Amino acid sequence: MRLVQTAAEVVRETGAWRKDGERIVLVPTMGWFHEGHLALMRLAKSLGSRTIVSLFVNPIQFGPREDLAAYPRDLDRDRRMAEDEGVDILFAPAVEEMFEPQFQTRVSLGAISQGLCGADRPGHFDGVATIVTKLFHLTSPDVAVFGEKDLQQLALIRRMVRDLNFNIEIVGHPIIREPDGLAMSSRNSYLNEAERRTALCLSQAIGRARETVRQSGNAVPVESLIADAVDFIAAHAGCQVDYVSIVDRWSLAPSTAIDRDSVMALAVKINGRVRLIDNGLLLPEAGR
Ligand code: AMP
Repeated sequence: MRLVQTAAEVVRETGAWRKDGERIVLVPTMGWFHEGHLALMRLAKSLGSRTIVSLFVNPIQFGPREDLAAYPRDLDRDRRMAEDEGVDILFAPAVEEMFEPQFQTRVSLGAISQGLCGADRPGHFDGVATIVTKLFHLTSPDVAVFGEKDLQQLALIRRMVRDLNFNIEIVGHPIIREPDGLAMSSRNSYLNEAERRTALCLSQAIGRARETVRQSGNAVPVESLIADAVDFIAAHAGCQVDYVSIVDRWSLAPSTAIDRDSVMALAVKINGRVRLIDNGLLLPEAGR
């Protein structure tokens, strides 16, 4: 595996791949790899002939009061993990390599970027869309893989690719969870033992909603599923609900009734410190 840290080199390397007719698959990440990232890398390898993983903690997607400085980083560790997965290039540029001091362009989406996490994190998704656009231009992939864990990010990237005519196939990967159900996240490393246990309420809230839908034969109103989840999470000491919504997984429009694409999406702050997200379909895959 090659570690590439400059824009010029990544353009040169991926350009050579293109000339050779390789099918390039990109996995954008912010590093501090866990099994979720590794699963995306494995899927990427199965989808093309060359795999490139980007590792960049993107400053323009963090708000002023967010965890940019604290975000966990360990390039050597991540490098070894990506190499073990057979990744061809790990692209890990410095901030100055991606953003000149005069940088002032943003790729900005409409309504799809404004609800859910967008409401609590103004500017976040413009930062995401901008960096992903830059990565697409730099690496010219045929396919890019994103996790369903970041439901809104995935929907937004799909929208952007259509709106801006990127000739790139976007592939989603299901959420990878710990054995007890907690969605894997680099931010889980912020949690102490007690908070780690409390954090289970996110996946449990989704599980409860799914069970309620099943037991009622899908006769429970959307609002009461949401209210029940909010109450359930709020009953856990130290948990503050940012939002609980039930939306269409593609458009992110609020569901008025539960259908096969209805997803419960939620964000919860633990002890005012660690913001976690999770989501899940409300009808079981088997019945789909
Ligand atoms: P991040 O490094 O957190 O920005 O994540 C990089 C990519 O990995 C994004 O597309 C995420 O959606 C995806 N990802 C993160 N955690 C998980 C997970 N637990 N399961 C599946 N994909 C994930």
